[in-house]
Amino acid sequence: MNNAIDFWSNLIEMIEDEGRKISKLGFNTWVMTIKPYSYENDVLTLSVPMQVNKDMINNRYLSLIQSAADILHKGKLTIRIELEEDLEKLSERKESEEYVPDENFLKESGILKRYTFDNFVIGENNRFAWAAATAVANAPGTCYNPLFLYGYVGLGKTHLMHAIGNEIIKNYPDLKILYITSEDFVNSVINSIRDNKIYEIRDKYRTLDVLMIDDIQFIAGKDRCQEEFFHTINHLYQAGKHIIISSDRLPNEISKLDDRIRSRLIEGLTCDIKQPDYETRVAILKKKIQNDNLDISDDIVSMIAEKVKANIRELEGVLIKIGAYSSLTDKKATKEMVADIISEITGQSRPSKVMTVDTIIYEIAKYFDIDPKILKSSTRKKEANAVRQICMYVLSEVTDVSLSKIGEAFGRNHATVINGRDNVIERMEKDEKYKEKIEDLIETVNNMI
Ligand code: ADP
Ligand code: MG
Repeated sequence: MNNAIDFWSNLIEMIEDEGRKISKLGFNTWVMTIKPYSYENDVLTLSVPMQVNKDMINNRYLSLIQSAADILHKGKLTIRIELEEDLEKLSERKESEEYVPDENFLKESGILKRYTFDNFVIGENNRFAWAAATAVANAPGTCYNPLFLYGYVGLGKTHLMHAIGNEIIKNYPDLKILYITSEDFVNSVINSIRDNKIYEIRDKYRTLDVLMIDDIQFIAGKDRCQEEFFHTINHLYQAGKHIIISSDRLPNEISKLDDRIRSRLIEGLTCDIKQPDYETRVAILKKKIQNDNLDISDDIVSMIAEKVKANIRELEGVLIKIGAYSSLTDKKATKEMVADIISEITGQSRPSKVMTVDTIIYEIAKYFDIDPKILKSSTRKKEANAVRQICMYVLSEVTDVSLSKIGEAFGRNHATVINGRDNVIERMEKDEKYKEKIEDLIETVNNMI
């Protein structure tokens, strides 16, 4: 808090020095009634006694305060002007031990209590996404809107969204917030159309303060739902409400996504979450061991972190299995036992990215009886090109690999992959036999990985 007082007194000095931009009377009547409340995480919260002060400051003085604050803060600072009584309520709530939101409220909001910022381990792979998530959670509706989180499966997107939700519920209990998966969103639209109740869901989504939709890629190609989604986010955006979206890929890599949605999504901030490095994997394991009170030695932790790299869900899976084994057998985990568990868990999941791409290309080449080397070569022969485009499409359907990475496997760029993939989609729409063949191929590949 002292931090806020120091910052504010320096700011006041700066504003006073700029005297000619503001009348003495205006300064004393309005600016001097402001009290600093907090200054943290790039957000300065100021308190004012009455609504009239708040309106006046927002209308007349905020831009002056903002430009001085940005200079002093050495970067963009979010300024919140709040009523004293609202801030008092907030701090009372913070002080009265842990604020426990109403269970019903949590249920309706779709937020899961177990995913918080406290149990989210920060590493180089997710620092940027975490920073953006905390900024949004501290001041929803002000910055980074929409916030778009993307990354492969199992790397913490859903966790971060719930963490934002939990933080907002704690700090701004009056805000209406909803977390929903895109499948549930799609189902709600379909049901409301069926029951002639589209207005009900419009009412539900468009009156929210914060809307979070997880795994948005599933909405692609579903035209009516995309239409509803576009108008929903547009409406919320224009009303200054916050939209938080996650996906396994960037908006421009989601095929059949409405262009209007795509451009709205990239207008905000897009943050990727990458695979965690070794140190972060160790930190995640240790945090979970501590939380779940497991008895696992450091050398076993290092062994797991060395071998399980792709996905945090798998890291957790290994720990859960170790916990189950040791409690059933009453024995401490041994290296041999852990090695078995690791190969069982990672063996069941998809092979590593490079392996997946190359083995799938190999399998498709076999299916069409063509040499895989030809597919990877620069030849533009018609047949090779057609199969290559099929590979691009299949890879984009069945793996989480980004389009640029798929392109790399063929020595081509991301645009060529989009083009190839879209050619296949177009032909599938026109040619039923071709479509069946591709679907059959996808099934074969899916059985293989
Ligand atoms: P995604 O939505 O990206 O597929 P999730 O958010 O479901 O991934 O994460 C998978 C699991 O890994 C969850 O149980 C989550 O709690 C855990 N997890 C992911 N990232 C972290 C992290 N940085 N710190 C702690 N646990 C994490
Ligand atoms: Mg998820």
